[in-house]
Amino acid sequence: MATSDKILKRSIDPSVHQMLVRAEGLGLETAWDRYEAMLPECGFGELGVCCRNCNMGPCRISPFEDAGPKQGVCGASADIIVARNLIRMIAAGAAAHSDHGRDLAHTLLLTAEGKGGGYEIRDEQKLRTLAAEYNIATEGRGKEEIALDLARAVYAEFGKQEGPIQFSRRAPQKRVGLWQKLGIDPRGVDREIVEIMHRTHIGVDNDPVNLILQGLRASIADGWGGSMIATEISDVLFGTPKPIRSLANLGVLKADEVNIVVHGHEPTLSEMIVAACRDAEMLGLAAKLGAQGINVVGLCCTGNEVLMRHGIPMVGNFLQQELAVITGAVEAIIVDVQCIMPALGNLIGCFHTRFISTSPKAKFPGATHIEFHEEQAYAIAKEIVRIAVENYRWRKPGQVVIPNDKVECLVGFSTEAILEALGGSLEPLLEQIKSGAIKGIAGVVGCNNPKVQHDFGHVNLVRELIKNNVLVVTTGCNAIACAKVGLMLPEAAAQAGDGLKAVCQSLGIPPVLHMGSCVDISRILTVCAAVANALGVDISDLPVAGAAPEWMSEKAVSIGSYVVSSGIYTVLGTVPPVLGSTVVTELLTTGAKDVVGATFAVEPDPVKAAQLMIGHIEDKRTALGL
Ligand code: SF4
Ligand code: SF4
Repeated sequence: MATSDKILKRSIDPSVHQMLVRAEGLGLETAWDRYEAMLPECGFGELGVCCRNCNMGPCRISPFEDAGPKQGVCGASADIIVARNLIRMIAAGAAAHSDHGRDLAHTLLLTAEGKGGGYEIRDEQKLRTLAAEYNIATEGRGKEEIALDLARAVYAEFGKQEGPIQFSRRAPQKRVGLWQKLGIDPRGVDREIVEIMHRTHIGVDNDPVNLILQGLRASIADGWGGSMIATEISDVLFGTPKPIRSLANLGVLKADEVNIVVHGHEPTLSEMIVAACRDAEMLGLAAKLGAQGINVVGLCCTGNEVLMRHGIPMVGNFLQQELAVITGAVEAIIVDVQCIMPALGNLIGCFHTRFISTSPKAKFPGATHIEFHEEQAYAIAKEIVRIAVENYRWRKPGQVVIPNDKVECLVGFSTEAILEALGGSLEPLLEQIKSGAIKGIAGVVGCNNPKVQHDFGHVNLVRELIKNNVLVVTTGCNAIACAKVGLMLPEAAAQAGDGLKAVCQSLGIPPVLHMGSCVDISRILTVCAAVANALGVDISDLPVAGAAPEWMSEKAVSIGSYVVSSGIYTVLGTVPPVLGSTVVTELLTTGAKDVVGATFAVEPDPVKAAQLMIGHIEDKRTALGL
């Protein structure tokens, strides 16, 4: 079947076109079809002016000056409703990241108690460094003993009623002082999220600015708390990432092997699935059934976690999850939490693929639920892998279509790996920034969204930045988009401006550095804090900027909020539901500069978005006298 214009406009990725043509031929729906069926999307929802917070409503505020209601039944204005809705999005996003962090703290606790079903402490050095940060004695103590104290300390952070989260003190003193002055220095993340839900209940906080400040406070608890705990404890348990080569895109599926896709966000399950797939018994079973091996591949952030620690190939980003199943080559798609479309269940029955859910927090129609418990991690992972391998016998080779597309990438640039590439200190990076060879640093992150041509925003924004000598650090689905077009190879330095090209070539690094999964945006904060501390300035003084060209999730709203609250100007490619309130829109895009020293901007055109970021970076350079 020929590729129609409609399909070409959905993505820039030829492997996606190929699978969408196949889906159309088979009469299968994907997210793009469901999005198009949804049009026009609800205008009230887009503006953020509908409220269901009590049963006198639902209420909706008319955007037309001369017609329709201007207040809800309780008297809430559009400004109040928009602010309440936005910070409820932040609460949900912060909850998702931070619950991920809590799960990791729990796994560390079990491991330290000797109850982790196969987990071990892989980075003892990091364990000791973190323990020192928490004032936990390390001298003469074994790693399990230290890990027990550290696990208890980070566990306690989530429910802390008073006092700051320890990792937030990595931020420059000036920044912490500003948070304190504004009353947004966060306490435990659970407390901040509960306070959002309380304040947004009918009849509580009805000041849009006061509401937004609480949203920022909860987001800081996410970025410098829950997310940072997730990152740091993952490194202790599974190892701090180091540069490693791998492959990305649908072509990583193999026609003659058992293909297992791990999808979701947390590394606890995927690490064990990777280990179980290397188990001699499982490999023997696969061989007995005629497969040449077991091929584990990743999607979304659980994929990023095992990509950067084991070089497990990425089969795609968020909008490619259904397409992986539509190849007909996947024996099992194994999921934990977050960014998993319930639509995957629609495909079960069309293909032999088993859809296996594992978290008590996340069940799906059509999925087989095999509950994962850390205490029996390896045994459960092996049971799941066995189901996948046995399913190979039901694959219909005539139904398998695997696109050829796969591209090499160099990934795994944790903060520690970046320092190592620089020879052990930030000084060479600072020198290159001062000389202007590197103009600044941009963090480009976030999801896919069918409102934007898939990967178009990600790839074009990043290309424009590196062309202008801006070093890009990336996580999440942006990282996967960049990997698929070769931007995460040292050879991509050829696409960078002369200054950045020379730096990358001398260090042998790509101009786009993969820093991991979405919670690993905390690594970007850590680098920014370290640079600001080295220069004796605040993060808002640095020539840095952020972008989320194709964002869609509530987690992205929390991320954007903590990045801006940390002083980093951030450009969004899709419009958040705030335009129904002039007060909230102006606060986020203008007023926030006088409050936290940074703002949001919205620019759907990725090249123009990059130019906004470059302009901001130039202004910061001038202010620093560079
Ligand atoms: S809280 Fe107010 S605006 Fe919201 S549904 Fe109730 S009455 Fe309507
Ligand atoms: S970037 Fe967005 S879509 Fe991708 S894994 Fe993260 S939250 Fe999910």
